[in-house]
Amino acid sequence: MSSTAHKIVDTLLAAFGPQKWWPAETPFEVCVGAILTQNTAWKNVEKAIANLKAAGAMSPAAIVALGGRLEVLVKPAGTFRVKAARLYRFCKWIVDEHGGSLDCLFDRGAESLRETLLEVSGIGPETADAIALYAAGKETFVADSYTHRILARHGWIEWESGYDDVRGWWMDGLPRDAALFNEAHALLVKTAKEFCKTKPDCDGCPLKPMLPGGGVREREKW
Ligand code: SF4
Repeated sequence: MSSTAHKIVDTLLAAFGPQKWWPAETPFEVCVGAILTQNTAWKNVEKAIANLKAAGAMSPAAIVALGGRLEVLVKPAGTFRVKAARLYRFCKWIVDEHGGSLDCLFDRGAESLRETLLEVSGIGPETADAIALYAAGKETFVADSYTHRILARHGWIEWESGYDDVRGWWMDGLPRDAALFNEAHALLVKTAKEFCKTKPDCDGCPLKPMLPGGGVREREKW
């Protein structure tokens, strides 16, 4: 299969090698990380996860049982009241609706799992896709802001495109393969963090040869 999406992944894989994502010991730890990582640096999430591990609270039931201590333990991840509430609701839902087991939750197809996760208050599309892909190994794409920025700067999507547009661009351009989606998203995050920052540093970026004729397409100011 040949597509722009494939060429991007091949180019980044040749430049950076496999990224071996997601950095976690268990599927549940992936879920916790996906909920805590919104709008914060990963090193802050690692501190919160270390606190939960030290408290012996790396299961849905153990997190539900923490009560008010949960806010204290996740504080390093920032906006801790909101994140503690989201994590609590997710864990309570697993306990109440899925017997406390991710296996029961994950025993369904990619789209069904995604829709089910989106029913939980505080779980948005990006978090749902991260859990479905990286914790459950389902074939869905995580279309985060890094991914959006790279596509828009190359003119492959419009800056105004929404989450589902970006997700659809990748899922239409690559075979439905969870391992490939995993690697592609991880490579895009690395590219964005190293080169495609708020101000793009195209010199040295592996995707520079794929820029349009007029160069980087920045968002128009209005
Ligand atoms: S070439 Fe420039 S615009 Fe394209 S991904 Fe790299 S830094 Fe971003």
